[in-house]
Amino acid sequence: MKEWPKCGTSGGASYTPRYMLLVVQKFGGTSLADADRIRKVACRVVETYRAGNNVVVVVSAMGKSTDALVNLATEITDTPHPREMDMLLTAGERISMALVAMAIEAHGVPAVSFTGSQAGILTTADHGRAEILDIRAFRVQESLDEGKVAIVAGFQGVSPDSKDVTTLGRGGSDATAVALAASLGADLCEIYTDVDGVFTADPRVELAARKLEELTFEEMLELANAGAGVLMPRSVEFGIRYNIPIHVRSSFHDGEGTWVKEETMEEPIIRAIAHDDSGAKLTVHGVPDQPGIAAAVFEPMGAAGVNVDMIVQNVSSQGVTDISFTVPASSADAAVEVAERVASEIGATGVDLDKGISKITVVGAGMKSESGVAAEMFGILSASGVNIEMISTSTIRISCIIRSEDTQTAIEALHRELIGERS
Ligand code: ADP
Ligand code: ASP
Ligand code: MG
Repeated sequence: MKEWPKCGTSGGASYTPRYMLLVVQKFGGTSLADADRIRKVACRVVETYRAGNNVVVVVSAMGKSTDALVNLATEITDTPHPREMDMLLTAGERISMALVAMAIEAHGVPAVSFTGSQAGILTTADHGRAEILDIRAFRVQESLDEGKVAIVAGFQGVSPDSKDVTTLGRGGSDATAVALAASLGADLCEIYTDVDGVFTADPRVELAARKLEELTFEEMLELANAGAGVLMPRSVEFGIRYNIPIHVRSSFHDGEGTWVKEETMEEPIIRAIAHDDSGAKLTVHGVPDQPGIAAAVFEPMGAAGVNVDMIVQNVSSQGVTDISFTVPASSADAAVEVAERVASEIGATGVDLDKGISKITVVGAGMKSESGVAAEMFGILSASGVNIEMISTSTIRISCIIRSEDTQTAIEALHRELIGERS
Protein backbone atom coordinates (compact mmCIF):
# COMPACT_ATOMS: atom_id res chain seq x y z
CA MET A 1 0.00 0.00 0.00
CA LYS A 2 1.18 3.52 -0.78
CA GLU A 3 2.68 5.52 2.13
CA TRP A 4 1.23 9.03 2.11
CA PRO A 5 3.69 11.82 2.93
CA LYS A 6 3.24 13.39 6.36
CA CYS A 7 1.62 16.82 6.49
CA GLY A 8 2.89 18.09 9.83
CA THR A 9 0.62 19.79 12.30
CA SER A 10 -1.56 21.94 10.12
CA GLY A 11 -4.66 20.25 11.47
CA GLY A 12 -7.40 18.80 9.36
CA ALA A 13 -8.22 15.26 10.36
CA SER A 14 -10.41 16.32 13.24
CA TYR A 15 -13.09 13.84 12.16
CA THR A 16 -12.06 10.26 12.69
CA PRO A 17 -14.86 8.52 10.89
CA ARG A 18 -16.01 4.99 11.48
CA TYR A 19 -17.38 5.16 7.98
CA MET A 20 -16.57 7.35 4.99
CA LEU A 21 -18.00 10.87 5.08
CA LEU A 22 -18.44 13.29 2.22
CA VAL A 23 -17.00 16.58 3.40
CA VAL A 24 -17.18 19.95 1.60
CA GLN A 25 -14.39 22.27 2.75
CA LYS A 26 -14.44 25.93 1.65
CA PHE A 27 -11.36 28.12 2.01
CA GLY A 28 -11.60 31.92 1.90
CA GLY A 29 -9.16 34.39 0.36
CA THR A 30 -6.94 34.99 3.41
CA SER A 31 -6.54 31.23 3.85
CA LEU A 32 -5.14 31.05 0.30
CA ALA A 33 -3.20 34.33 0.32
CA ASP A 34 0.20 32.93 -0.77
CA ALA A 35 2.00 29.71 -1.74
CA ASP A 36 2.75 28.84 1.87
CA ARG A 37 -0.90 29.15 2.91
CA ILE A 38 -1.99 27.14 -0.13
CA ARG A 39 0.39 24.36 0.96
CA LYS A 40 -1.18 24.45 4.45
CA VAL A 41 -4.68 24.25 2.97
CA ALA A 42 -3.54 21.29 0.89
CA CYS A 43 -2.26 19.58 4.07
CA ARG A 44 -5.61 19.98 5.78
CA VAL A 45 -7.40 18.54 2.74
CA VAL A 46 -4.91 15.66 2.43
CA GLU A 47 -5.31 14.79 6.13
CA THR A 48 -9.10 14.78 5.84
CA TYR A 49 -8.80 12.57 2.76
CA ARG A 50 -6.29 10.25 4.41
CA ALA A 51 -8.65 9.84 7.36
CA GLY A 52 -10.90 8.05 4.90
CA ASN A 53 -13.26 10.81 3.77
CA ASN A 54 -14.36 11.96 0.34
CA VAL A 55 -13.42 15.61 0.04
CA VAL A 56 -14.76 18.39 -2.19
CA VAL A 57 -12.86 21.67 -1.82
CA VAL A 58 -14.38 25.03 -2.73
CA VAL A 59 -11.90 27.88 -3.13
CA SER A 60 -12.07 31.68 -3.15
CA ALA A 61 -9.62 33.88 -5.03
CA MET A 62 -6.22 34.38 -3.37
CA GLY A 63 -6.02 37.14 -0.74
CA LYS A 64 -7.53 40.39 -1.96
CA SER A 65 -7.14 39.49 -5.63
CA THR A 66 -10.87 39.97 -6.41
CA ASP A 67 -10.56 43.60 -5.18
CA ALA A 68 -7.42 43.99 -7.29
CA LEU A 69 -9.27 42.76 -10.39
CA VAL A 70 -12.19 45.13 -9.70
CA ASN A 71 -9.73 48.03 -9.37
CA LEU A 72 -7.96 47.04 -12.56
CA ALA A 73 -11.26 47.10 -14.46
CA THR A 74 -12.12 50.57 -13.13
CA GLU A 75 -8.70 51.80 -14.34
CA ILE A 76 -9.77 50.76 -17.83
CA THR A 77 -13.37 52.04 -17.78
CA ASP A 78 -16.01 53.44 -15.42
CA THR A 79 -18.65 51.28 -17.06
CA PRO A 80 -17.25 47.79 -17.58
CA HIS A 81 -19.60 45.46 -19.42
CA PRO A 82 -21.12 43.13 -16.77
CA ARG A 83 -20.36 40.06 -18.89
CA GLU A 84 -16.69 40.97 -19.23
CA MET A 85 -16.52 41.90 -15.54
CA ASP A 86 -17.64 38.37 -14.67
CA MET A 87 -15.15 36.86 -17.13
CA LEU A 88 -12.46 38.87 -15.34
CA LEU A 89 -13.50 38.12 -11.74
CA THR A 90 -13.96 34.37 -12.26
CA ALA A 91 -10.26 34.24 -13.19
CA GLY A 92 -9.38 34.81 -9.50
CA GLU A 93 -10.93 31.54 -8.29
CA ARG A 94 -9.53 29.73 -11.32
CA ILE A 95 -5.99 30.57 -10.22
CA SER A 96 -6.52 29.24 -6.70
CA MET A 97 -8.28 26.05 -7.80
CA ALA A 98 -5.37 25.04 -10.02
CA LEU A 99 -2.74 25.87 -7.38
CA VAL A 100 -4.64 23.98 -4.65
CA ALA A 101 -4.97 20.96 -6.97
CA MET A 102 -1.21 21.05 -7.63
CA ALA A 103 -0.45 21.36 -3.91
CA ILE A 104 -2.65 18.35 -3.11
CA GLU A 105 -1.16 16.29 -5.94
CA ALA A 106 2.30 17.10 -4.54
CA HIS A 107 1.34 14.89 -1.58
CA GLY A 108 0.54 12.02 -3.88
CA VAL A 109 -3.21 12.48 -3.49
CA PRO A 110 -5.10 12.59 -6.80
CA ALA A 111 -6.89 15.92 -7.26
CA VAL A 112 -8.74 17.59 -10.10
CA SER A 113 -10.01 21.16 -10.34
CA PHE A 114 -13.23 22.41 -11.97
CA THR A 115 -14.51 25.86 -12.86
CA GLY A 116 -18.07 26.59 -11.72
CA SER A 117 -19.27 25.83 -15.22
CA GLN A 118 -17.42 22.48 -15.35
CA ALA A 119 -18.83 21.63 -11.92
CA GLY A 120 -22.35 22.07 -13.34
CA ILE A 121 -23.29 25.15 -11.32
CA LEU A 122 -26.19 26.59 -13.31
CA THR A 123 -27.28 30.13 -12.51
CA THR A 124 -29.53 32.94 -13.63
CA ALA A 125 -27.99 35.25 -16.22
CA ASP A 126 -27.72 38.26 -13.82
CA HIS A 127 -24.07 39.17 -14.01
CA GLY A 128 -22.51 40.10 -10.68
CA ARG A 129 -25.43 38.75 -8.64
CA ALA A 130 -26.48 35.51 -10.29
CA GLU A 131 -28.49 32.99 -8.31
CA ILE A 132 -27.81 29.27 -8.35
CA LEU A 133 -30.73 27.50 -10.05
CA ASP A 134 -29.43 23.96 -10.16
CA ILE A 135 -26.25 21.98 -9.72
CA ARG A 136 -25.44 19.12 -12.09
CA ALA A 137 -22.25 17.99 -10.41
CA PHE A 138 -21.69 14.88 -12.55
CA ARG A 139 -18.00 15.53 -13.12
CA VAL A 140 -17.41 16.25 -9.43
CA GLN A 141 -19.21 13.03 -8.47
CA GLU A 142 -17.28 11.07 -11.08
CA SER A 143 -13.96 12.29 -9.73
CA LEU A 144 -15.02 11.38 -6.17
CA ASP A 145 -15.98 7.92 -7.40
CA GLU A 146 -12.49 7.62 -8.88
CA GLY A 147 -11.00 8.39 -5.44
CA LYS A 148 -9.92 11.94 -6.30
CA VAL A 149 -10.26 15.15 -4.35
CA ALA A 150 -12.44 17.56 -6.37
CA ILE A 151 -11.62 21.26 -6.20
CA VAL A 152 -14.34 23.65 -7.34
CA ALA A 153 -13.91 27.36 -8.07
CA GLY A 154 -16.30 29.24 -5.79
CA PHE A 155 -18.37 32.34 -6.57
CA GLN A 156 -19.12 31.37 -10.18
CA GLY A 157 -21.42 29.45 -12.45
CA VAL A 158 -22.83 29.51 -15.95
CA SER A 159 -26.20 30.60 -17.24
CA PRO A 160 -27.94 27.93 -19.34
CA ASP A 161 -29.87 30.76 -21.07
CA SER A 162 -27.10 33.16 -22.04
CA LYS A 163 -24.36 30.44 -21.99
CA ASP A 164 -22.17 33.02 -20.25
CA VAL A 165 -20.07 32.70 -17.14
CA THR A 166 -21.59 34.47 -14.11
CA THR A 167 -20.61 35.46 -10.57
CA LEU A 168 -22.78 35.14 -7.48
CA GLY A 169 -21.96 38.42 -5.69
CA ARG A 170 -19.19 39.21 -3.21
CA GLY A 171 -18.53 36.44 -0.73
CA GLY A 172 -20.27 34.03 -3.12
CA SER A 173 -17.92 31.09 -2.52
CA ASP A 174 -19.81 30.45 0.72
CA ALA A 175 -22.98 29.96 -1.35
CA THR A 176 -21.14 27.64 -3.77
CA ALA A 177 -19.97 25.50 -0.84
CA VAL A 178 -23.32 25.07 0.91
CA ALA A 179 -25.24 24.59 -2.35
CA LEU A 180 -22.73 21.98 -3.51
CA ALA A 181 -22.93 20.24 -0.12
CA ALA A 182 -26.72 20.08 -0.52
CA SER A 183 -26.55 18.84 -4.09
CA LEU A 184 -23.97 16.11 -3.34
CA GLY A 185 -25.72 15.05 -0.12
CA ALA A 186 -22.58 15.87 1.88
CA ASP A 187 -22.33 14.97 5.57
CA LEU A 188 -20.54 18.19 6.48
CA CYS A 189 -19.98 21.66 5.12
CA GLU A 190 -16.98 23.41 6.62
CA ILE A 191 -16.24 27.10 6.02
CA TYR A 192 -12.57 27.74 6.80
CA THR A 193 -11.81 31.40 7.37
CA ASP A 194 -9.47 33.89 9.05
CA VAL A 195 -11.33 33.99 12.41
CA ASP A 196 -12.09 31.14 14.81
CA GLY A 197 -15.83 31.03 14.08
CA VAL A 198 -18.87 33.27 14.35
CA PHE A 199 -18.42 35.76 17.18
CA THR A 200 -20.84 37.80 19.31
CA ALA A 201 -19.71 40.82 17.21
CA ASP A 202 -17.11 41.35 14.50
CA PRO A 203 -13.94 40.41 16.45
CA ARG A 204 -11.94 42.98 14.47
CA VAL A 205 -14.16 45.77 15.78
CA GLU A 206 -15.22 44.58 19.25
CA LEU A 207 -12.27 43.16 21.20
CA ALA A 208 -14.56 41.70 23.89
CA ALA A 209 -16.42 39.62 21.28
CA ARG A 210 -16.61 35.89 22.08
CA LYS A 211 -16.71 32.92 19.75
CA LEU A 212 -20.13 31.26 19.73
CA GLU A 213 -20.34 27.48 19.96
CA GLU A 214 -23.55 27.46 17.97
CA LEU A 215 -26.36 29.62 16.61
CA THR A 216 -29.48 28.96 14.58
CA PHE A 217 -29.79 29.37 10.82
CA GLU A 218 -32.35 32.14 11.27
CA GLU A 219 -30.05 34.06 13.64
CA MET A 220 -27.14 33.67 11.23
CA LEU A 221 -29.28 34.80 8.31
CA GLU A 222 -30.34 37.96 10.18
CA LEU A 223 -26.71 38.64 11.17
CA ALA A 224 -25.42 38.03 7.64
CA ASN A 225 -28.08 40.33 6.16
CA ALA A 226 -27.15 42.93 8.78
CA GLY A 227 -23.52 43.00 7.66
CA ALA A 228 -21.72 40.15 9.50
CA GLY A 229 -19.56 39.25 6.50
CA VAL A 230 -18.35 35.93 7.91
CA LEU A 231 -21.02 34.11 5.85
CA MET A 232 -22.78 35.27 2.70
CA PRO A 233 -26.56 35.43 3.35
CA ARG A 234 -27.36 33.16 0.43
CA SER A 235 -25.18 30.39 1.85
CA VAL A 236 -27.31 30.44 5.01
CA GLU A 237 -30.47 30.32 2.90
CA PHE A 238 -29.17 27.10 1.28
CA GLY A 239 -28.38 25.79 4.77
CA ILE A 240 -31.97 26.45 5.81
CA ARG A 241 -33.57 25.08 2.66
CA TYR A 242 -31.63 21.81 2.65
CA ASN A 243 -30.88 21.61 6.39
CA ILE A 244 -27.10 21.52 5.94
CA PRO A 245 -25.35 22.30 9.23
CA ILE A 246 -22.44 24.69 8.57
CA HIS A 247 -19.23 24.55 10.61
CA VAL A 248 -17.41 27.92 10.48
CA ARG A 249 -13.84 27.45 11.69
CA SER A 250 -10.28 28.72 11.50
CA SER A 251 -8.04 27.67 8.67
CA PHE A 252 -5.01 28.40 10.87
CA HIS A 253 -5.57 25.86 13.64
CA ASP A 254 -7.55 22.77 14.46
CA GLY A 255 -9.87 24.08 17.20
CA GLU A 256 -13.63 23.68 17.06
CA GLY A 257 -15.40 26.59 15.39
CA THR A 258 -19.10 27.57 15.40
CA TRP A 259 -21.98 25.36 14.27
CA VAL A 260 -24.80 27.06 12.40
CA LYS A 261 -27.80 24.75 12.50
CA GLU A 262 -31.55 24.41 12.75
CA GLU A 263 -31.85 24.38 16.55
CA THR A 264 -29.52 25.11 19.42
CA MET A 265 -29.47 23.97 23.06
CA GLU A 266 -30.05 27.49 24.36
CA GLU A 267 -31.85 30.44 22.81
CA PRO A 268 -30.38 33.57 24.40
CA ILE A 269 -32.34 36.80 24.06
CA ILE A 270 -29.40 38.47 22.33
CA ARG A 271 -26.96 36.15 20.55
CA ALA A 272 -24.84 38.68 18.64
CA ILE A 273 -24.47 42.20 17.25
CA ALA A 274 -23.77 43.12 13.64
CA HIS A 275 -22.97 46.42 12.01
CA ASP A 276 -22.97 47.66 8.45
CA ASP A 277 -21.60 50.96 7.27
CA SER A 278 -22.00 50.24 3.58
CA GLY A 279 -25.42 51.91 3.34
CA ALA A 280 -26.70 55.38 2.46
CA LYS A 281 -29.88 57.22 3.42
CA LEU A 282 -32.07 59.10 0.97
CA THR A 283 -34.81 61.51 2.04
CA VAL A 284 -37.51 62.73 -0.32
CA HIS A 285 -38.82 66.01 1.15
CA GLY A 286 -42.24 67.56 0.82
CA VAL A 287 -44.02 64.48 -0.51
CA PRO A 288 -47.82 64.93 -0.88
CA ASP A 289 -49.42 62.69 1.77
CA GLN A 290 -51.94 60.78 -0.34
CA PRO A 291 -52.68 57.21 -1.40
CA GLY A 292 -50.32 55.72 -3.99
CA ILE A 293 -47.35 57.92 -3.17
CA ALA A 294 -45.23 55.20 -1.53
CA ALA A 295 -45.79 52.97 -4.55
CA ALA A 296 -44.89 55.89 -6.86
CA VAL A 297 -41.53 56.25 -5.06
CA PHE A 298 -40.59 52.61 -4.52
CA GLU A 299 -41.83 50.84 -7.66
CA PRO A 300 -39.31 52.68 -9.88
CA MET A 301 -36.55 51.89 -7.32
CA GLY A 302 -37.31 48.18 -7.69
CA ALA A 303 -37.44 48.51 -11.47
CA ALA A 304 -33.99 50.18 -11.43
CA GLY A 305 -32.59 47.25 -9.40
CA VAL A 306 -32.14 49.35 -6.24
CA ASN A 307 -32.48 47.24 -3.11
CA VAL A 308 -34.32 49.35 -0.52
CA ASP A 309 -33.73 48.31 3.09
CA MET A 310 -35.39 50.44 5.82
CA ILE A 311 -38.20 52.93 5.13
CA VAL A 312 -39.56 55.63 7.43
CA GLN A 313 -42.38 58.02 6.58
CA ASN A 314 -42.68 60.99 8.90
CA VAL A 315 -45.96 62.32 10.33
CA SER A 316 -47.46 64.66 7.77
CA SER A 317 -47.97 68.34 8.33
CA GLN A 318 -50.18 70.48 6.07
CA GLY A 319 -50.64 67.59 3.66
CA VAL A 320 -46.95 66.91 3.00
CA THR A 321 -44.43 64.56 4.57
CA ASP A 322 -40.82 63.33 4.25
CA ILE A 323 -39.95 59.75 3.28
CA SER A 324 -36.50 58.41 4.23
CA PHE A 325 -35.07 55.07 3.17
CA THR A 326 -31.73 53.28 3.07
CA VAL A 327 -30.02 51.64 0.10
CA PRO A 328 -26.56 50.07 -0.41
CA ALA A 329 -24.03 52.90 -0.95
CA SER A 330 -23.10 51.23 -4.24
CA SER A 331 -26.67 51.92 -5.50
CA ALA A 332 -26.88 55.46 -4.02
CA ASP A 333 -26.25 57.33 -7.29
CA ALA A 334 -28.85 55.27 -9.16
CA ALA A 335 -31.31 55.75 -6.27
CA VAL A 336 -30.82 59.55 -6.29
CA GLU A 337 -31.40 59.66 -10.05
CA VAL A 338 -34.67 57.73 -9.69
CA ALA A 339 -35.78 59.71 -6.58
CA GLU A 340 -35.18 63.06 -8.31
CA ARG A 341 -37.19 61.99 -11.34
CA VAL A 342 -40.06 60.70 -9.16
CA ALA A 343 -39.92 63.80 -6.91
CA SER A 344 -40.53 66.09 -9.86
CA GLU A 345 -43.38 63.86 -11.13
CA ILE A 346 -45.23 63.81 -7.78
CA GLY A 347 -44.50 67.39 -6.80
CA ALA A 348 -42.08 66.65 -3.92
CA THR A 349 -39.72 69.47 -2.99
CA GLY A 350 -36.34 67.74 -3.07
CA VAL A 351 -34.02 64.77 -2.44
CA ASP A 352 -31.16 64.50 0.08
CA LEU A 353 -28.38 61.89 0.12
CA ASP A 354 -26.60 61.02 3.38
CA LYS A 355 -23.64 58.65 3.16
CA GLY A 356 -22.58 59.05 6.81
CA ILE A 357 -24.87 56.43 8.32
CA SER A 358 -24.32 53.04 9.89
CA LYS A 359 -26.75 50.27 10.78
CA ILE A 360 -26.38 48.51 14.10
CA THR A 361 -28.34 45.31 14.71
CA VAL A 362 -28.90 42.97 17.65
CA VAL A 363 -30.11 39.42 16.96
CA GLY A 364 -31.37 36.63 19.20
CA ALA A 365 -33.95 33.87 18.81
CA GLY A 366 -34.93 34.33 22.48
CA MET A 367 -36.37 37.75 21.56
CA LYS A 368 -39.47 35.99 20.24
CA SER A 369 -40.72 35.42 23.77
CA GLU A 370 -39.27 38.48 25.50
CA SER A 371 -40.70 41.98 25.54
CA GLY A 372 -38.88 45.22 26.26
CA VAL A 373 -35.65 44.35 24.40
CA ALA A 374 -36.06 47.22 21.94
CA ALA A 375 -36.60 49.73 24.74
CA GLU A 376 -33.48 48.40 26.48
CA MET A 377 -31.42 48.79 23.29
CA PHE A 378 -32.66 52.35 22.74
CA GLY A 379 -31.88 53.19 26.40
CA ILE A 380 -28.30 51.89 26.09
CA LEU A 381 -27.72 53.88 22.90
CA SER A 382 -29.17 57.03 24.41
CA ALA A 383 -27.06 56.66 27.59
CA SER A 384 -24.00 56.46 25.30
CA GLY A 385 -25.00 59.66 23.50
CA VAL A 386 -25.86 57.82 20.27
CA ASN A 387 -28.81 59.27 18.33
CA ILE A 388 -31.16 56.85 16.54
CA GLU A 389 -32.34 58.01 13.11
CA MET A 390 -34.39 55.01 11.95
CA ILE A 391 -35.54 51.72 13.46
CA SER A 392 -36.69 48.42 11.99
CA THR A 393 -37.42 45.07 13.63
CA SER A 394 -38.24 41.43 12.93
CA THR A 395 -39.26 38.82 15.50
CA ILE A 396 -35.61 38.10 16.32
CA ARG A 397 -33.85 41.35 15.28
CA ILE A 398 -33.73 45.07 16.08
CA SER A 399 -31.81 47.41 13.76
CA CYS A 400 -31.09 51.11 14.27
CA ILE A 401 -29.61 53.62 11.85
CA ILE A 402 -27.06 55.83 13.61
CA ARG A 403 -24.24 58.20 12.54
CA SER A 404 -21.29 56.18 11.26
CA GLU A 405 -18.89 57.92 13.68
CA ASP A 406 -20.93 56.44 16.56
CA THR A 407 -20.55 52.82 15.39
CA GLN A 408 -17.70 51.83 17.71
CA THR A 409 -19.33 53.46 20.77
CA ALA A 410 -22.64 51.76 20.00
CA ILE A 411 -21.13 48.29 19.50
CA GLU A 412 -19.09 48.54 22.71
CA ALA A 413 -22.04 49.74 24.80
CA LEU A 414 -24.51 47.19 23.40
CA HIS A 415 -22.00 44.36 23.72
CA ARG A 416 -21.14 45.28 27.31
CA GLU A 417 -24.76 45.66 28.41
CA LEU A 418 -26.54 42.97 26.40
CA ILE A 419 -23.91 40.27 25.90
CA GLY A 420 -21.32 40.84 28.60
CA GLU A 421 -17.57 40.62 28.90
CA ARG A 422 -15.49 37.58 28.11
CA SER A 423 -15.76 35.24 31.12
P1 ADP B 1 -13.15 34.71 3.85
O1 ADP B 1 -12.17 35.36 2.95
O2 ADP B 1 -12.59 33.54 4.59
O3 ADP B 1 -14.46 34.41 3.18
P2 ADP B 1 -14.39 37.03 5.08
O4 ADP B 1 -13.52 38.25 5.18
O5 ADP B 1 -15.39 37.00 4.00
O6 ADP B 1 -13.42 35.76 5.02
O7 ADP B 1 -15.15 36.77 6.46
C1 ADP B 1 -14.44 36.72 7.67
C2 ADP B 1 -14.49 38.09 8.34
O8 ADP B 1 -15.83 38.34 8.77
C3 ADP B 1 -13.68 38.18 9.60
O9 ADP B 1 -12.34 38.52 9.34
C4 ADP B 1 -14.41 39.25 10.41
O10 ADP B 1 -13.77 40.50 10.37
C5 ADP B 1 -15.77 39.38 9.70
N1 ADP B 1 -16.88 39.29 10.64
C6 ADP B 1 -17.92 40.17 10.71
N2 ADP B 1 -18.78 39.81 11.68
C7 ADP B 1 -18.30 38.69 12.23
C8 ADP B 1 -18.75 37.83 13.30
N3 ADP B 1 -19.88 38.07 13.97
N4 ADP B 1 -18.00 36.75 13.61
C9 ADP B 1 -16.87 36.48 12.93
N5 ADP B 1 -16.39 37.24 11.92
C10 ADP B 1 -17.09 38.34 11.58
N1 ASP C 1 -13.52 36.09 -4.36
C1 ASP C 1 -14.89 36.53 -4.19
C2 ASP C 1 -14.93 37.78 -3.33
O1 ASP C 1 -13.90 38.29 -2.93
C3 ASP C 1 -15.79 35.47 -3.65
C4 ASP C 1 -15.46 34.99 -2.24
O2 ASP C 1 -14.39 35.29 -1.71
O3 ASP C 1 -16.29 34.28 -1.65
O4 ASP C 1 -16.00 38.29 -3.09
MG1 MG D 1 -16.19 35.51 2.77
